[in-house]
Amino acid sequence: MSTVSEALGLKVHFRLSQGGWNRRSGPVIRAVDGIDLTIEAGETVALVGESGCGKSTLGRALLRLEEPSAGVVRFEGHDLTGLSPELLRRQRAGMRMVFQDPYASLNPRMRIGEALAEPLRVHGLATGRAARHAVAEILEVVGLDPAVVARYPHEFSGGQRQRIAIARAVIGRPRFVVADEPLSALDISVQAQILDLFADLKARFALTYLFVSHDLAVVRHVADRVAVMYLGRIVELAEAETLFMRPAHPYTQALLGAVPTPDPARERARVVARLPGELPSPAAPPAGCRFHPRCPLVMPVCRTDDPALLHVDAGQTAACWLHRRAEAAAPSSLERLGLSHAHPHHQS
Ligand code: SF4
Repeated sequence: MSTVSEALGLKVHFRLSQGGWNRRSGPVIRAVDGIDLTIEAGETVALVGESGCGKSTLGRALLRLEEPSAGVVRFEGHDLTGLSPELLRRQRAGMRMVFQDPYASLNPRMRIGEALAEPLRVHGLATGRAARHAVAEILEVVGLDPAVVARYPHEFSGGQRQRIAIARAVIGRPRFVVADEPLSALDISVQAQILDLFADLKARFALTYLFVSHDLAVVRHVADRVAVMYLGRIVELAEAETLFMRPAHPYTQALLGAVPTPDPARERARVVARLPGELPSPAAPPAGCRFHPRCPLVMPVCRTDDPALLHVDAGQTAACWLHRRAEAAAPSSLERLGLSHAHPHHQS
């Protein structure tokens, strides 16, 4: 398996000033605050967490649509952080983004045919007849009549617009697609169809996905692995089945404890209601474990010491001191055989 996307020690910090984000004045918002993540070819990794946890910023940073403040981002082994605009543009042909709101991501004054041909032209992949042929082909692939090329975005339903936005993302045959809450602007009845489309495109074009979502019910159906984010950090990373069966981090447990409802807004409200306190500001994350002010299992060490991701089980890590205690209490296999006095190894 080859690595498609990789973040090492990644930080994206902004300054918040009057009138919005910039990098010159105001408190520093640590949207992404020290993340290591590796996504292998053919995987679907889901990134979940409450709104404001930094998951969308991380998704954009992996495509270098956000400038890292520290750390490294690689795509297919190429370090994106130091690339010139020209080299970055070439790499961008292989990685695309699908946004939450398809209407906002399509130019309202551009006909669908032009909107779909644009990425082919920008990346020097096709023009003229070849581009028209590629546009007709991708429209059929996403389930739309190629005759729609002369129409404008406002002439379509929300689900159809998202199909067009997805077609625009994949027409240049990227290898990696970051989908940022791609279902949350859609009616519940349309969501399943768009999920099927993502699955179909993945199989057809051998895509690798990062699926950013607050909706655990959705993630369960699409993800091979799930990364749970809290205040700029990944607090649990596990294979999807393991995470849903045996969540290791108290935050993941709280998220999963919410009774799923078909209404994402209500589900989010329930999740937040289960946790005491508010999501702290990413400008001033709590000392020690960032989750400690809301954690029902908080211990004295949690208030002072920041846990790294610790091995929990095969394919599962969690940033929680409870798992260090479990590791420390369990003798290693060598110790059980009386062959070693070595301390148990902690992944940190
Ligand atoms: Fe809770 Fe402590 Fe684990 Fe943080 S480290 S999640 S406060 S038990």
